[in-house]
Amino acid sequence: MNIIEIFGTRVFNDDAMRKHLTKGVYTSLQKTRELGETLDPEIADDVANGMKDWAIEQGATHYTHWFQPMNNITAGKHDSFLNFSDDGRAILDFSGSALIKGESDASSFPSGGLRATFEARGYTAWDPTSPAFVRDKTLYIPTAFCSYGGEALDAKTPLLRSMQAVSREGVRLLRALGNTTSTAVIPTVGAEQEYFLVDRKLYEERLDLKLCGRTLLGSKSSKGQELDDHYCGRIRIRISKFMHDLDERLWSLGVASKTKHNEAAPAQYEMAPIFSTANIACDHNQLTMEILRTTAKEHGFACLLHEKPFDGINGSGKHNNYALSTDDGINLLKPGRNPGSNIVFLVTLSAFITAVDEYADLLSMSASCPGNDRRLGACEAPPSIISIFLGGHLTDTLVMAAHGDAAKGNGKAMLKTGIDVLNDLLKDESDRNRTSPFAFTGNKFEFRMVGSSQSISTSNVVLNTIVADTFSKFSERLEKSDDIQKTVREIVADTLENHGRIIFNGNNYSKEWHEEAKRRGLPIHSGAIDAYKAFVEEKNIKLFERMDVFTPVECRARYDILLENYIKVVSIEAKTLFEMVKRQIIPAAVNYCGKIAASFNQLSAAGVQNAQVQSHLEKLSELASAIIVRADKLEEVVAKINDIANEELKAHFIRDNVVPVMEQLRESCDALEAITDRKEWPMPTYTDLLHRI
Ligand code: ADP
Ligand code: MG
Repeated sequence: MNIIEIFGTRVFNDDAMRKHLTKGVYTSLQKTRELGETLDPEIADDVANGMKDWAIEQGATHYTHWFQPMNNITAGKHDSFLNFSDDGRAILDFSGSALIKGESDASSFPSGGLRATFEARGYTAWDPTSPAFVRDKTLYIPTAFCSYGGEALDAKTPLLRSMQAVSREGVRLLRALGNTTSTAVIPTVGAEQEYFLVDRKLYEERLDLKLCGRTLLGSKSSKGQELDDHYCGRIRIRISKFMHDLDERLWSLGVASKTKHNEAAPAQYEMAPIFSTANIACDHNQLTMEILRTTAKEHGFACLLHEKPFDGINGSGKHNNYALSTDDGINLLKPGRNPGSNIVFLVTLSAFITAVDEYADLLSMSASCPGNDRRLGACEAPPSIISIFLGGHLTDTLVMAAHGDAAKGNGKAMLKTGIDVLNDLLKDESDRNRTSPFAFTGNKFEFRMVGSSQSISTSNVVLNTIVADTFSKFSERLEKSDDIQKTVREIVADTLENHGRIIFNGNNYSKEWHEEAKRRGLPIHSGAIDAYKAFVEEKNIKLFERMDVFTPVECRARYDILLENYIKVVSIEAKTLFEMVKRQIIPAAVNYCGKIAASFNQLSAAGVQNAQVQSHLEKLSELASAIIVRADKLEEVVAKINDIANEELKAHFIRDNVVPVMEQLRESCDALEAITDRKEWPMPTYTDLLHRI
């Protein structure tokens, strides 16, 4: 199979456009795609027609305005191209206005009160910067989704707004630094995606996996990831077949899937695409999650995208690799041969350090969800404190630059392998610090907190906005300066002085770092519902307003949506756990106790008095009663949720009163599972799920 022959075949890409549009229409559309100019309404019908002809060639019968409501997944209703001509014949039809604007009932999507019920209408608007594609006989048109009043109801609108902001402020900064050629600054993103695969049949037998995407109970397998024998190990044949199929589908849809490997936990895997512009990367990541799920199903697997499907082994995240590039190909985060005298790099790096220190709360918020609450801060994932890893060399370079000493040479060292036949290797600019939540990795930053099920939109909206705002402040200083070199030195020095506390090159998993971070006054992330508050902090509302990314009303709406989501997700988990315990675990426990009791009676009747068997039976029976008591308690607290009027209080009540009861109930169930006959346990175990695929 030839990748080049497959790649992008289902995408309305440049080749397809050239073939299906006239030269004039193509050129005009090109301006819209590349320069962000509004589409000339005169050509809309021609573009739509060309797109339709291409899509029909691809076997499409329908089109859909594909959008990303605020629930981390995508949506769209599908219309066929069918219409009737004036003389009543069936024709295939797709107009410019149908391409550009769609209408969708917004009332069934999260809106955080933005949508009054009497104005239920929502609009979808074509995003020409992300290519349309054909999937499952439908032409998918990427769109932004907003309310009747124009408020953003989706993940794409704020992302596009924030891309505009960082481009505007980026170009302004470059001008102030003497660049006269670049006309746009574009955030580039590569999102690595971790996931689990479990056998579909086993998955179907677990209500928690089906309804919640994670195990709500389960005694640990005797073998977890202790031996480090899964990470990058041989990919099993069944998995490999799945991965090949996945790649082919992704390639045909234009997703540049590049890397695949086994991850650290058993049954855990990763895929990484080649980076693209933030907007396309976000669309592609959504598409990747969908194709992962559907392909898994066809291969007899279920793909788990939850941040923590299993207790006791690693959870899954998404590494959001991020850099800024100009339209003429300069990566602002590329250190170059002599980073100490590369003023664009020094100022950009300073902007990231300043921005991340000032708005660590927003970054935490962007990576917060109920699932990630179970992953962040555990010893496998980024910790609950945001810091930046620069590496020793780069940190020294900054310090020297602040003192007017450009670091000498390129700072790269040779890595001696000590084996004659092997070449000595050029060492990387920075070492890999796998423990850092925000690490500089050569020419980009890697934000590692994002959860595996989350849209990457919010994190990139935050990154674009906070960097844009800092650029604007630096530009103000530089525009007034009559000695640019000196002002750059001052910017670097001030950054180190005021924001150097955010730089940490050590082990983020260590206990000492917690202490140290406290001394430095860095905020410690205490879970999703506290992190969400960042959306309604005055300084952040002002920031988003200043950068034209969110209005204050939109900020409050997003906060409400996040809270509402937390409440719903954990309530569903609580109810699912209750159902499993009442309808599966308790009957099995009582049954099994009865069987052991009968055996015990038989032994006694035969004259064998066995104290150990008796105490085993007592233990089983004690656990069974603990489970019944705790399940009743769970029912009681869940019933109270709806009596609480205020959403914020509701979320707190769930975190402080429902989650702990769920944990206790689970503890009893897991203890019972560990000493119950496998044949009597009513659902697949951790060993089945993790090791039988
Ligand atoms: P690592 O080994 O650090 O994870 P990779 O080279 O494998 O590094 O890249 C990880 C991800 O980062 C990939 O998706 C890659 O395309 C992406 N990436 C590389 N360069 C950039 C860049 N300039 N901007 C955004 N993402 C990038
Ligand atoms: Mg990586």
